[in-house]
Amino acid sequence: MMIPYPPINEDQRLKALKNYNILDTLPQAEYDNITYIASYICKTPISLVSLIDEKRQYFKSHLGLDILETSRDVSFCAHAIHNHNEVFTVSDARLDERFHDNPLVTDEPKVVFYAGMPLVTKEGHALGTLCVIDREPHHLTDEQKEVLKRLSQQVMYLLELRQKRFLNKTLQHKLEAYAQDMGAFAYSASHDLQEPLRTAKSFLELLERTHADKFDETGKKYMQLAVGSMSRMTQLINDLLEYSRSGNSDEDCDDMDLRKVVEDIAEMNKLIITEKGVQLELGVLPVIKISKAAITQLMHNLIGNAIKYQAPGLKPIIKINASDLDTHWQISVKDNGIGIEEENQKVIFKIFKRVKTQGAYVGSGIGLAICKKIVQHHGGEIWVESEYGKGSTFYFTIHKI
Ligand code: ADP
Repeated sequence: MMIPYPPINEDQRLKALKNYNILDTLPQAEYDNITYIASYICKTPISLVSLIDEKRQYFKSHLGLDILETSRDVSFCAHAIHNHNEVFTVSDARLDERFHDNPLVTDEPKVVFYAGMPLVTKEGHALGTLCVIDREPHHLTDEQKEVLKRLSQQVMYLLELRQKRFLNKTLQHKLEAYAQDMGAFAYSASHDLQEPLRTAKSFLELLERTHADKFDETGKKYMQLAVGSMSRMTQLINDLLEYSRSGNSDEDCDDMDLRKVVEDIAEMNKLIITEKGVQLELGVLPVIKISKAAITQLMHNLIGNAIKYQAPGLKPIIKINASDLDTHWQISVKDNGIGIEEENQKVIFKIFKRVKTQGAYVGSGIGLAICKKIVQHHGGEIWVESEYGKGSTFYFTIHKI
């Protein structure tokens, strides 16, 4: 018997095989279907998907043979993996000097005929074979060999797909862990920053109250500027806290009637709406599966901006509409406000980004970043279409559950 020698790139080949995470896995119908078709077309009682591990051959699928593995020394497939392009054929193993005294030939399953097509990766590593076996002398026609070649490619497609899914899952877990870390970091950093800031602010206020008479006008101005900066920093930290909390929660997903959500927001902002003469026009709005807090915050930010960024002398007209995109809802909030230059239309969704030319409008640049976080958490996107000086339409999509 001739013991099969390893291919020259054996270390890399074994590494490639391990990367597929296929060894010692449970039987799967998609591989069993391939061995069924191979044995049916080639008219053999046995067909295997065999993977050549360091010391053994492991059968991912084994039709007509009730074993899961054998030692590599007796493996026919370990011979077959040397020629990547050809079906390796042994017409009668009993008469072949490489196999005549092989225990798989002399004992059960008493292999006589063997034909195996290597399973070759894109990088050129033969992981094993798709093979057919008979207990009698047998012959494969060219057509049958061609089918065996193509089916071995199918096995490789399955393995590639499996590896991609595995990598995607690993990446997804890593991303989730990273996002959780970042959220926890932002929360605790901003939370911990509040305390020293509060103390510094109260000492400054105390200093102002008790020693103000000792300062000249410039001193008093500096004091006020310092208190003002402290207040702005407190606001920024609160915004950061709100941002780190928003968008992550899966809790309380409910059927939310968007019209009712908008009407509630209008009710809450009755004062400013009346004061500014806001005209709110609602189209047919759907019921969306989302948490009340998330959709309220999202719509509140967009409607709030549509009122805030109003062109001088104009009364805000805000139109809210929806379209059904099959898998998603698309919602639009259109205003007749100051508009946004094209170069700013993407950056405004980043945290703390504001349009510099709009310094007259008060804000911290966090509202749209929160909207983006909420929307992405619900499998959607957010963007704006706007003509500077003429108004803006904000669109977002939400995945239907
Ligand atoms: P904030 O309003 O607190 O600045 P946002 O994140 O809500 O923060 O908005 C970011 C920036 O996008 C705003 O500073 C403003 O320049 C621009 N913006 C948002 N909504 C509108 C709108 N409806 N019309 C014009 N500009 C807008």
